[in-house]
Amino acid sequence: MFEHLSITPCEDITPRQLVDLMKAGHCVQRSSHAGNWSTYKLLMSQIGLPDCIWDVTCVHRDVNNQPQYRLRGGEKLPLVPSATTLHDEDKTKYLTPYHWTGENGERQTLSHFHIAPLKKMYGGIITTQSQVLLRHKEKLARVFEIVQTYRPELLGRYVLPCGCMVKMEDCHSFLTAKCNHNEARVDRKDLAATALGTLTELETLVFAPHGYTPKGGPLYTFELVVASFYLWAYWQFGDRAIYMLSGPDMLGYATKPAFIQSIQKVLELIGKHAPDLVPKRVEAKIVPVTLFRFGYPQQCEVSRAVMAAHEAVREIQGVKRKSLHCLDIQKSCDVAISGILPIIREHGKKWDLFHDPSKDAFFSQHDLEAMGGGMQICDGYLDTTFNTMKRLLATMPDNERKLFRKLIERKP
Ligand SMILES: [Zn+2]
Repeated sequence: MFEHLSITPCEDITPRQLVDLMKAGHCVQRSSHAGNWSTYKLLMSQIGLPDCIWDVTCVHRDVNNQPQYRLRGGEKLPLVPSATTLHDEDKTKYLTPYHWTGENGERQTLSHFHIAPLKKMYGGIITTQSQVLLRHKEKLARVFEIVQTYRPELLGRYVLPCGCMVKMEDCHSFLTAKCNHNEARVDRKDLAATALGTLTELETLVFAPHGYTPKGGPLYTFELVVASFYLWAYWQFGDRAIYMLSGPDMLGYATKPAFIQSIQKVLELIGKHAPDLVPKRVEAKIVPVTLFRFGYPQQCEVSRAVMAAHEAVREIQGVKRKSLHCLDIQKSCDVAISGILPIIREHGKKWDLFHDPSKDAFFSQHDLEAMGGGMQICDGYLDTTFNTMKRLLATMPDNERKLFRKLIERKP
């Protein structure tokens, strides 16, 4: 019987400790999306931390990954002709794995387009949720059967072949789904089996979409997506604590009591009817890894110089703070800093440590693939806690701006 779910933030931990926990057999997983990956994701992959991509994501809502564009060379290149029309107006969600890009022979899904270079560079640590769940297909089938019988609304979404995801409507012994392009219906007694089939289709659309024609099908709701992830972690790793490496959104919603309660209810339901599939307790820790930006592509001199410049300014300021009694040292520090700041000003656009992934054309896996080589982590940051990185990132841009104004712009 399931007893307790805890989801708590965990910021006082370093990247190296996460790697060690993974090696010790814990489930340490980032749950990313298929799209453009920014610095922190590439750095996490570089140190070998696995990424289980949540494949049921929506093109226009996935703002931090901008899946409808290829970000490369500081530019955004549209991948779908209708890029500008994939908006939220009618509340329809357009699923990334069902949108296609490229010409006839090269035609592939947006998900495949973004994930293929990551698979090539990082191999088996890049997986998707459908893929990992289907490795436990018989267990998952039992979970879906229980849901079909007791809470069918948890399988209440439907993706149509055009990629529109809608809520299903009740219609006697059937459930129906309809968008502006297609309609479909599912017999209630087939709900679990067809939903399992949708996961197989998702796996195909992400990893081997060439020549495949999507059929669409029922999909699990977000509560069941999360609960399935915890169940999978138990099936795969046992009942050790789970470390979920989170993007900007998860830390906000996943630690709220109402959210935890809703997932707990799903786990209790499955535990009641299939006790062997569910642990007694789930302890999930959310680590905000977006702050791990302290690194650069190995083949890129500009980014290496910019990172070194940020670091040097910070270190020299430390020296300055320690030398309050000695004016000469303070002056020398200012001279050094004013020599370094222009490097950040000049090249900072090409390697922007503080980029905003929801709007900037940041360095992505497509750049890294074209450039060759991997990512380099700056010295010391493997052993810096995410808490400290957060503090640094929050204060650095402001500090540097102030120093620039004081030492360069207002210089007599
Ligand atoms: Zn549609």
